[in-house]
Amino acid sequence: MTVAERRAAYLRCQSCGAEALHEVSYAGRLLYKSRCTACGHEVRHGERDFEGRYLLDLEHRLLTKPGRLVRRARYHPIAFARSFPAAAARQPAKLRAELRMVLDDVRRRRG
Ligand SMILES: [Zn+2]
Repeated sequence: MTVAERRAAYLRCQSCGAEALHEVSYAGRLLYKSRCTACGHEVRHGERDFEGRYLLDLEHRLLTKPGRLVRRARYHPIAFARSFPAAAARQPAKLRAELRMVLDDVRRRRG
């Protein structure tokens, strides 16, 4: 799971108190923010130094990617061969979306 990826989950909202569908966003593997679809209340998770933690996580993902690809190719060669071209083609756009979300947030907070 990557991209400034959005998922949905039923959570209790700390603002309106309803157990409602929330849009949950991730930057890479890090929980970034959640938004209550009932009232629009948004919570940013780990706001303090999020960009520093994101960059450390990104570095780890990039350094371990070759090993993860080799393991997938070894244990699931057919699925790997089928999915690799499309997955590789999506990587630049996924990384751009992640970086855009994190950098936009940094700019917004620094005004
Ligand atoms: Zn709410």
